[in-house]
Amino acid sequence: MNRVGDDAVIVLKSRDEKLRNGDAQYRYRQDSDFYYLTGFNEPDALLVLITDDQHQSDVLFCREKDPDKMIWDGPMVGTESAVSDYGFERAYYINEVDQRMPGFMQDRERLVFKLGEDESFDSKISQWVKNIEHRKGQKSRAPDEFVSVNPMIHDMRLYKSAAEIRCLKKSAEIAVKAHQRMMQACRPGLFEYDLQAEYLHELTRHQSQPSYLPIIGGGNNGCILHYINNNQPLRDGDLVLIDAGAEFDYYASDITRTFPVNGRFSARQKDLYAVVLQAQKDAIAEVKIGNPWNKPHQIAVKTLSQGLLDLGILSGSLEQVLEEKLYQQYYMHMTGHWLGLDVHDVGDYQVDDLWIELEKDMVLTVEPALYIGEHTEAPAEWRGIGIRIEDDIQVTPKGPQVLSSGLVKEIDDIEHIMNN
Ligand code: ZN
Ligand code: MG
Repeated sequence: MNRVGDDAVIVLKSRDEKLRNGDAQYRYRQDSDFYYLTGFNEPDALLVLITDDQHQSDVLFCREKDPDKMIWDGPMVGTESAVSDYGFERAYYINEVDQRMPGFMQDRERLVFKLGEDESFDSKISQWVKNIEHRKGQKSRAPDEFVSVNPMIHDMRLYKSAAEIRCLKKSAEIAVKAHQRMMQACRPGLFEYDLQAEYLHELTRHQSQPSYLPIIGGGNNGCILHYINNNQPLRDGDLVLIDAGAEFDYYASDITRTFPVNGRFSARQKDLYAVVLQAQKDAIAEVKIGNPWNKPHQIAVKTLSQGLLDLGILSGSLEQVLEEKLYQQYYMHMTGHWLGLDVHDVGDYQVDDLWIELEKDMVLTVEPALYIGEHTEAPAEWRGIGIRIEDDIQVTPKGPQVLSSGLVKEIDDIEHIMNN
């Protein structure tokens, strides 16, 4: 409310429930922005924040407690508890929203909401605005400035509070346990989905669920960036790349490890793995207050490129590899992204063509990789190896804090955990 200033009304809507097929629902998951401002986890809700020069106030519209519905679906929050437990100043039934909203909006100069994200909500908003204008016998004014709420909330979400950091840590710890479990369960002859089952088992017993579809790719499948089929056999002598995170209390972790299916890296796998691991360490070291967003990426690309040259997978000079972006055939994505309520969290990376500078309590991933796919021009003996190593990092005045540091990534440590 401080950010929008006086004389504004902010309106935010909950995420709708969605059918998966027939009459079966997807598990409900609140809209991240709505949850960020409310902690309220039900559909059919509307948050209204009102500012004038005197004071700021907040209102929640939510479902009426319906005894019949509660027989089927269990408890609902209801307006009373919205005030007493959630701390909203006022709460009203959502079925009164059309009648009450014009009153909240009238005489406010600015209307702040998610412009153009939901057609039916946009038309509701225009209806409410119209109904202000049509109120008879009143000298009420409709907002004449329409502002997008996204940049404000998304900028706020970039800086994590202590409570958010606790959730992110917890979600990283759960994912760490799940990855450990997969490492320990892995052996030739299993299928990729057998590891997925271990992962889901560990998440479920920590009241967590996947923060995105897990990628579990053996051999060349590790080179397919968005591989989600996870249905192929894990072969002796191959690596398996696992990108799998947890969501805990709405906050995401995002961790990738790559390890040998049989518990022992081959010499060649070791060489390539060592390059990616070094690139990740070099990049993490650059997660420092004041560094531009892309500094870790630049450093990672440099280490990866030098490694590709040293191993004879690329040829030429380092300058040439960087200049002509020759590394891109084996490393085609950025080295990380913001992390928070969403796995690819909101927040700018650039403003006016300038990279954002890293600041205290931003949280990001660092995930360099090398994908020597079977159809690349690499020498044949290297093909079919995909390696990515990804951790979740908090920017702090003391330097990078690795939230996922509980998970091994050194070659010896991985082999140890897999064989003991
Ligand atoms: Zn990631
Ligand atoms: Mg990932």
